[in-house]
Amino acid sequence: MRNTPLYRIPWTVSDAVITWIEPTKECNMRCSGCFSANNPGKHKPLRSVLSEIDAIRAGIKTDVIAIAGGDPLCYPHLTEVIRHIKESGFHPFLITNGALLSPASLASFKAAGLSGVCLHIDSLQNRDGWAGKDESELNGLRQHYVDMVRREGGLSCYLNMTVTKANLPHVGDVYAWARGNAPLVELMIFITFKTPEHITGEQRAAIAGSEVKTDEIAAAITARDRNFKLCAILRSAFSGAEKWSVAAVPCGHEDKFISPQFFGAAQELSRRWRGRYLGRLRKMRPWEAALAAILLIFRRGVAFSDIRALFGGVQAVLIVQPETIVWGQKPRFFM
Ligand code: SF4
Repeated sequence: MRNTPLYRIPWTVSDAVITWIEPTKECNMRCSGCFSANNPGKHKPLRSVLSEIDAIRAGIKTDVIAIAGGDPLCYPHLTEVIRHIKESGFHPFLITNGALLSPASLASFKAAGLSGVCLHIDSLQNRDGWAGKDESELNGLRQHYVDMVRREGGLSCYLNMTVTKANLPHVGDVYAWARGNAPLVELMIFITFKTPEHITGEQRAAIAGSEVKTDEIAAAITARDRNFKLCAILRSAFSGAEKWSVAAVPCGHEDKFISPQFFGAAQELSRRWRGRYLGRLRKMRPWEAALAAILLIFRRGVAFSDIRALFGGVQAVLIVQPETIVWGQKPRFFM
């Protein structure tokens, strides 16, 4: 899996492709691995949220502003927030469990400027009608939401799943489902379960031993797809530990994952060309793809098979290892 050195993503806290805001602490679910203390009715005033977006525009180089929470669909002024992000020159994304999402609300968010949704669906949520179902069965629910996004059209679609020791055996099925939904599912995110600090006593004891490591998830995927190869890592700005591990495969070409050299060259080209690192690896317009191909093909280590990603887009897989951040701690790396 790591025969060649992986590209080290050079993003910093103030120069990354994605940042996020949390307008609400309310959520309509209670996942056992949630790091946000669920607090019904605890919404930030709209003017505070809009000021946060203005502060991001003034001080952070980014491409996407993700609206998280709690669940952002619980926030009463969500449409205004989406519109302000869009008008500020960023791509607004929703990170949501999707339970409150309907075709009509999705259409209205898109009309306000929404660029995409990241749907959090897994067996730790005990959803109405889906309690006790395993991850493979939950692929039916994932398909329901992905079809909703497909019907609306023009939106990016990401999925995320928290992985514990219990659902690790189903990672291969979820991976295969995501691969079967390329190119619509642009990104499949597996997040390793981490015991939240605020959980104590019997509750903490009940989930002891649930944590998994990035390598276990990568091994589960490789057992399903022997072509699977990571190409890049992002280290934590706080501890220096590997936080994100990235793999990407050109859509329509299942056999060859992109190389670390191509991933790195594309990041650096984007930074020079657009002033921002590359976050969304979408299909390019033909003239853009042709120009990028000319600029990248002669880079050391870039293979012809990598270039296919420019013309058809890629589907990416991200494994996230969360860490504990002490409030007030300053980033030590990349600054
Ligand atoms: S859906 Fe998200 S915000 Fe809501 S409880 Fe689960 S992890 Fe937390």
